[in-house]
Amino acid sequence: MQPVAPETDADIEHWLDGDQPKWDAVDFELPCSRCGYDLRMLTLPRCPECGLQFAWRDIFEARRRRRHEFLFEYCWRDRPIRSWLLTAFRGLRPRRFWERISIHEHVRKGPLLFFLVSAVPAFLLTMHAMAGLALLVFWLLDRTLSARATGYFGTYVSPLAVLAQYARAVATLPVIAGLNYVCLAGAVLLDVVAATALLASLRQTLGRCRVRPVQVLRVAAYATVPAVAVTAVAVFLCGVGAACLLAYGMPLGVALGNVLAFGLCVTIPGAYLGTGLRRYLQLPRPWLLGLTASAVAMLLTFTAVMFTIVLLAGGW
Ligand SMILES: [Zn+2]
Repeated sequence: MQPVAPETDADIEHWLDGDQPKWDAVDFELPCSRCGYDLRMLTLPRCPECGLQFAWRDIFEARRRRRHEFLFEYCWRDRPIRSWLLTAFRGLRPRRFWERISIHEHVRKGPLLFFLVSAVPAFLLTMHAMAGLALLVFWLLDRTLSARATGYFGTYVSPLAVLAQYARAVATLPVIAGLNYVCLAGAVLLDVVAATALLASLRQTLGRCRVRPVQVLRVAAYATVPAVAVTAVAVFLCGVGAACLLAYGMPLGVALGNVLAFGLCVTIPGAYLGTGLRRYLQLPRPWLLGLTASAVAMLLTFTAVMFTIVLLAGGW
């Protein structure tokens, strides 16, 4: 029988005697929020399948049909843009974010899938916004400093002009990259989907715990969107560092910037995933699980990008 969502406090009190369920009155399945095991008729509030400890009242109360304060999953019909922004923004501080979310809430797969895929425009828009802002700052600084320097040193090419060129190139990437820009968006999508799929497949081996796939999707969606935004900023700043070293005649800076950017593309999403796995799903080895999923997804994406570049160049 399908689980019933209580509508009122009276419904909950009908099923509870203090903090203990009245099993005679509960005539529906009561699946464990983490693994889906039917908890009916248990005497202790601990899932025998996955070990999740809980309070019976929390399980019944969280199933109540109610409006969530801000979460996209619940508010997308009424306030799609506002709830998307609030969810993504609050997700930037993952420890506090997961404290606001209950594992016992009803999970809605459709909005979560949409939110996960929206990580692609979130990454690209953050990158372009950063580049636009940096271009303005570099241009203003370059203009001010060049105007002052001209009087003393004559005309010269400022390193800030090189940085402004880099920022302009990133800001106008859709125009100058053409088809490669579509490949970049595809690479971000592949990375996001691969990390989620790996997380779902690794949860029993590394996490040593059965977890409902929809709960893995929830962690992946709410960790990935803020993680890609932070990653976009970090990768852009790596490029600024590399362009800076290049402007001062150190071409090795490009290689260093690439290596650092690759490392950040793995560790930032891995850390966000790990925080969700620890704080929300309470899994053992959360960091290992998050970083492994992130690293393998990144390597898969990198291989796919290299393969595509060679294919487009007519290498095969
Ligand atoms: Zn369980």
